[in-house]
Amino acid sequence: MQTPFIIEQTDAQLIGSKADITYEISFEHATRHCISIRMIIAKNTSTTIIAKSPVWIPGSYKVRDMNAHQHAIRIHDVNGTPLEWKWLAKHVMEIHNPTQSDIVIAYEYYANDRGVRTSHVNRNHAFIMPVACLMYVEGRMEEIHHVKIDTRHTEWNNISTALSPITPDNNQQPTIFGALNYHILIDSPIEIGNHRSTYFDIAGSKHEIVLIGNESVDMEWIKGEIKRAVEIQYQFWGDLPYDRYVFFLMIGEGLRGGLEHLRCNVSAVDPSAFLDRSSAQGMMALLVHEFFHTWNVKRIRPIELGPFNYEQENYTRMLWLAEGWTSYYDDLLSYRSGFYSRDEYLSVLAQAHLGKLARVQGRFSMSLKDSSFLAWTKLYTMSPDQHNQFPSYYTKGGIVALLLDILIIVKSGGKHKLEHALRAMWEQYKIDGQRGFTEDDVIAIIETTCNVSIKQEFDAWHNGVEELPYQSIFDHIGLEWKEHQAHTPQEWYGDYRPFHPKNPQVFFGCVISEDHGRLFVREVEKDSPADKAGIGIDDEIIAVNGKRVNTRTMLINALQSHGSKQPAQLIAQCDGRMYETSVHLIPAMLFTLKISDTISGEQEHLLDYWLNA
Ligand SMILES: [Zn+2]
Repeated sequence: MQTPFIIEQTDAQLIGSKADITYEISFEHATRHCISIRMIIAKNTSTTIIAKSPVWIPGSYKVRDMNAHQHAIRIHDVNGTPLEWKWLAKHVMEIHNPTQSDIVIAYEYYANDRGVRTSHVNRNHAFIMPVACLMYVEGRMEEIHHVKIDTRHTEWNNISTALSPITPDNNQQPTIFGALNYHILIDSPIEIGNHRSTYFDIAGSKHEIVLIGNESVDMEWIKGEIKRAVEIQYQFWGDLPYDRYVFFLMIGEGLRGGLEHLRCNVSAVDPSAFLDRSSAQGMMALLVHEFFHTWNVKRIRPIELGPFNYEQENYTRMLWLAEGWTSYYDDLLSYRSGFYSRDEYLSVLAQAHLGKLARVQGRFSMSLKDSSFLAWTKLYTMSPDQHNQFPSYYTKGGIVALLLDILIIVKSGGKHKLEHALRAMWEQYKIDGQRGFTEDDVIAIIETTCNVSIKQEFDAWHNGVEELPYQSIFDHIGLEWKEHQAHTPQEWYGDYRPFHPKNPQVFFGCVISEDHGRLFVREVEKDSPADKAGIGIDDEIIAVNGKRVNTRTMLINALQSHGSKQPAQLIAQCDGRMYETSVHLIPAMLFTLKISDTISGEQEHLLDYWLNA
């Protein structure tokens, strides 16, 4: 019989618990970015122990071999007698323990990578991703595991984690935490330092917001926004699947992205997220996204994603469900949370979803399901050519969810929508937490819950590489999807007073980066003017029409003022060899999604039904 895959845990379950596998974590070498770990394995019943490190992180579909940072390994019994051991594979060690005594695996872990899926320690704090640095014992993953945090070598006085304290709350910072099993343990990051936390309760569940970074942030403001987002999702799903939840918000130069967990999430943003409305909206949509995963993917999951095999790729064709649907609902629920106005939401759909996919030529070469299956070598490798090769299952998956939602609304005459199917899946999970969902399950649940037939469209959109039928779907709810020429704004001190009439914006088809006064091509869109002119990734653009260009602004101005009527002459270099080429720019296109002026009463009814809870 297969071992049950237990992923739910409450703090009450761990109070006073005992564990035979304990990790003692200390920070005597924090300044050189090392975490010191002693893994103590008791109650051994065999003379051979196999200890392993995961090679990938659930939620991030790439083999990362995180134990590459593990070093200074010493293995001994409790009396300090060294034990014989050897590597069996890059992530597997075999330990001989002839007396079956308790054993200690002590090692250092170099943690100097700041981000949502990596551990980071320095003199100021430690962020620990257990999946990256804590090993497991083969055959004993289902046991209770404890983590003891030793802050003696530091001046840190705050520990935040979704792991459960072992000692009851007596107003002292607990230092021993536990998980019912290894799966929950490695899904629970830990922040240790002098960070700020703030708390709120909803429906009897406790929420903590942990700020990681040196930025000064208005804690009351962020608490208000996150609380609103939680309330909206509580209404969306009908309940909260945890007793306690932690939002880790990491703020630092160049940071981005997020990672979902069972009882917490980690979201990372650049400090500029707090500078203007649209950046703050992006941050809130990220937080909504990661929180939505608490249900969709951590619990309602593709059948292949749990129990996990931590030693190799876990292939699934269903990341359109895990990430696509979550990408769709992150912005829709941000709208319902009041972070976007209705017009802003439609504009986000037009630019960040539909307009983004329109620039991905790879949508005509690879299906959504294949993009999901090959995530391990495609999406996560971040090739500069990736947009020419395949569509992201986030972007295209989100758009397919949007179209599916509207299709269900139209076919059910405004009685059902996609979220009813999601809630039905949530109800099924609550009855049987062991189950994962197949694609056929999802189709069947949509069709029975919403009383519509959608299989034909579903298959075409997930398996096909043809353009999606935007306008024919949007027509039903009075939305107009348009592609039109972008005009350069001509305002001058707020009045219309240009010195020279400006050309319409032009499209070149390159992503350019600046490096010490030189311009390098980072991406080239297939069949774009740049591609047709023979400009390749890594080439350097030197001059436009005989004039040197040193900055992106200079390049854009030069192309813009040249316009699209005649080819422009470019000097560039590839591999140290200069070349000249002429590029025929084309007018840039802008995408808009707007409510039709001639929307009917029936269309307006369906539109409201789609947008509102
Ligand atoms: Zn996600």
